[in-house]
Amino acid sequence: MSEFDLIQRYFTRATPGAELGVGDDAALLRVGSGMELAVSTDMLVSGTHFLPDADPFLLGHKTLAVNLSDLAAMGAQPRWALLSLALPEAEETWLQKFSEGFFALADQHGVELVGGDTTRGPLNLCVTIMGEVPQGAALRRSAAQLGDDIWVSGRLGDAALALAHLQGKVELSAADFAMCALALHQPTPRIELGMALRGVAHSAIDVSDGLLADLGHILECSKLGAEIQFDALPISDTLRSYSGQDPSLSFPRRRESSLIKTLDSRFRGITSDLPACGLSRMASSSINDGCLEDLLIHRCVLAGGDDYELCFTAPIAHRVAVEELSHRMNLPLTRIGAIVAGSGCTVRAADGSIINIGESGYDHFR
Ligand code: ADP
Ligand code: MG
Repeated sequence: MSEFDLIQRYFTRATPGAELGVGDDAALLRVGSGMELAVSTDMLVSGTHFLPDADPFLLGHKTLAVNLSDLAAMGAQPRWALLSLALPEAEETWLQKFSEGFFALADQHGVELVGGDTTRGPLNLCVTIMGEVPQGAALRRSAAQLGDDIWVSGRLGDAALALAHLQGKVELSAADFAMCALALHQPTPRIELGMALRGVAHSAIDVSDGLLADLGHILECSKLGAEIQFDALPISDTLRSYSGQDPSLSFPRRRESSLIKTLDSRFRGITSDLPACGLSRMASSSINDGCLEDLLIHRCVLAGGDDYELCFTAPIAHRVAVEELSHRMNLPLTRIGAIVAGSGCTVRAADGSIINIGESGYDHFR
């Protein structure tokens, strides 16, 4: 199969929303009057973000989902995408499944694939996503205000728990793993929520690297601080049930491969240095009396990443509006804390003591 056959067969669809789509030197797009173009790009690299034997349908979904999540965090309406692929070989079943996963999600959100690039190389998937947002209405990281409530959508930590299981660091039951694996492999970009938050929220970010890291970006950009109540965080019953699990010490690694080790480094913020957890917690109180067990939960929820939920700040006056939105969308929106003066995020346990988890999220170069 030639490069052009490949593009034609798997990645060329009608694009009625573009002046010109796949097939020329550039696509031609027209943004609605009074709208701004929101553009973002995100790359998934084999061995860093996924295992090379990852299910291609789910990979197609996730490659687009992580990009849509960025537009959701801006309050933008997704319109167009570019897809750049480096592939070790043109494997037809893989391409078929990957494109099915990609287009299934694209169709859900009215996204048209208008171009890209295809080369041979180590598996690497890169999407550039484009959307529209009314002029001045985008939700920026820099716009949080003193006294804002901090909210988060959906639930946090399940994806990180699934990854911990894949790494042999915890042992989940088959049913629990199936639930968490859905969060890890098939995240739901909160597009509808992002658009509904225009004029309701002051600032927003999607939680891709972990709540503390991502909320930290809002705080830095807005030059403010935050206080979060750990007990208010939305945690699945599944994750909660692993309170009391020793996250790495009692379980032998079930799978050992260099790739798992590569992924390990991505996960080190969650389960590394566990023996030092006494040092990681500045205060000794916790949900249980334990230390190791709660560190797993704390890290999955606060630093796990891959959640692709929205964290946003909104004025207290909009509390009811946010709650109504939650009800209308049938999506949990949980108030987890407040924007305060100062800098950095303080996480408090129920008794008021401070929870410190050491690292706050994933950083590719740390
Ligand atoms: P050029 O040589 O001008 O860069 P290419 O041969 O790379 O053009 O691509 C031909 C056309 O196919 C272009 O319109 C490009 O945007 C599109 N294209 C290439 N790869 C992909 C892909 N993976 N998905 C969608 N469109 C693609
Ligand atoms: Mg090209």
